[in-house]
Parts: sequence; structure tokens; C-alpha cells
Amino acid sequence: MKIVYSRHYDIGFFGLERLHPFDSRKYGRAWRCLKREFGPRLDSVHVKPNRPVSRDELLRVHSAAYLQQLRIPKYVATALELPIVAKLPRFIIDHCILRPMRWGTMGSMLAVRAAIDDGLAVNLSGGYHHAKPEQGEGFCIYADIALAVETARREGHLAPDARVAYIDTDAHQGNGVCHTFLDDKRVFIFDMYNHTNYPCYDHVAQGRIDCHVRIHAGHTSAEYMRSLTESLPGFLDSISRSQPVELAIYNAGTDVYEGDALGQLNVTADHILERDLFVIDELRRRGIPVAMLLSGGYSGESYKHVFATVRTLLERYGI
Ligand SMILES: [Zn+2]
Repeated sequence: MKIVYSRHYDIGFFGLERLHPFDSRKYGRAWRCLKREFGPRLDSVHVKPNRPVSRDELLRVHSAAYLQQLRIPKYVATALELPIVAKLPRFIIDHCILRPMRWGTMGSMLAVRAAIDDGLAVNLSGGYHHAKPEQGEGFCIYADIALAVETARREGHLAPDARVAYIDTDAHQGNGVCHTFLDDKRVFIFDMYNHTNYPCYDHVAQGRIDCHVRIHAGHTSAEYMRSLTESLPGFLDSISRSQPVELAIYNAGTDVYEGDALGQLNVTADHILERDLFVIDELRRRGIPVAMLLSGGYSGESYKHVFATVRTLLERYGI
């Protein structure tokens, strides 16, 4: 097992990031908890990105016109749902907000590579599942998931016809991933989300999902878990029946938490841990390499949920 982390992941710009409910420093917080728990032993599983993703690499998924739009403060402010950003100079936005996301995107690319090599990897960032090739939204700018898959294909780590499973349990529907893979039938999408929440209007994205599990605020934590355990195994069996699945990306948003400001669901901390372990165990049982990405999580507790999952995974598979 490998943990991908860079100290460049955290996003901060003079405290203004606190105006958004997202804890943009949860990456470093989760890492420091792991460091306290495992000490120098963590070094043996640590993959450290040595640069952010480049413009040329981003062009594998995004258009040049879209990357040009990211130079307009008002555009970025809308994508981040943070109006104050529109008033910041362009270089500050790029350096303090977009660059950490490019480090996180590189982390997702490395996590996919490490998962294929080692069977299991966690990027302590990434999972920007609302980003589309031509549009950023929902605090997601770069389509790291599609870019990681595309890069693994280009570099020969995945065969051109290799099947990929995308499993998304973030509270929000992963519409950007659906749009990016709209015509790519090698990718099979399982999405379990709050169907009354953003981006519920995106019917094109919902039409691309291979296995829907729709949840809403009325569901209890136990019902949430039951929905997952009743649907995921059958999905994995169905997509691997005629051809093996050679990679899974698990988008493990912690905004399903009962204390989360944006997810509007009722899942307990214990069930978030149980959920993550269930998904990863189901994949490993079938011999499918898995790269886990953090995605959303808008409570001050989010880093603790990440820590609990990664600590247990390390105890089982890593250290
Ligand atoms: Zn979310």
C-alpha cells in the first residue's frame, strides 16, 4: 500500500479560505495525524509528488480555451463558489489556490500508478469529481480522475481496452466524471449520492451512470450502509464477468457525515470507516487495484474520518 502526499496540497490565502465551508487544510491535518501514529514507518509507504501537473498534461483532458479561462478571477470565483476570489490578483489565485490543486492532481496520477503496481494507494487529496473538460464547478477545477486514467493508458500501465471501475460515494453526484467519460465505455460508473442535492439538474451526467444508488436526507446511517452493501457487490460482479477490471478509482467523499454543512446526509463517523473498508475489501477480494481519493468533506471533522480510514488500511495492508 502507498500513501501519496505533498505538503503543497493545503490551500490557503490569507485566511480568506475560511469563508468557504471546505477545510482546505484537511490534507496536512490528516497527514500529521498519520505521522503521529506511525512515525518514521510512514516513510516506507510515502510517495511524494515532486512537481505539480503540467499544462501539457492537463491538455490531455482539458481544452486550451478552458485553461485560458482559469486566468480570469471571476471565472475561478464562480467555479469555487467563493465570490471574494474575484477580487484577488490573478497570480495570487494561481499560486495559492490553483497550484495546490495541480499538486493534488499530480497526486491522483501517482496514486493510480502506485495502485496498479502495489494493489492499493491513497492520495490525501484529489477527487475533483465536478470538473468537466470545458468547465470548472463545485470547488473542482481539474479533472484529476480522468487525467489519472488517461495518463496510465498513455504510459502503458493500463492496456488500451482495460476496464476501469469508478466508485463514487461522495454526497454529491460526480457529474464532471460522467461528462469526461461520456463516450468512454471502458469506464464503469457506480455513484451513490444525495439525489436532492447539487448537481441534481444534470440529467446528462446521471444518464451516464452504470449503477445509481440514490440517497436522501431521510435515510438513516444504517439504511445508507445497507444500500451500499446491497448494490456494490452485484455491480462489481456484473462488470467483471466477461473481462477483468484492471483498476478502480474510489472517490471517498466524507461529506456524507451527519455533521457536514453541505452533504445533507446522516452518516456516522463509524459508518464512514465501515463504508470505506467495505468498498476497498470488495475490490481487493476480486483482485482489483484501487486508488482512493479524498473528494468532498466540509466539516471540521473531515480530516479525522480520513485519518481513521487510512490508519486502518495501513494496519491491514501497509505497515
Ligand atoms: Zn461532495
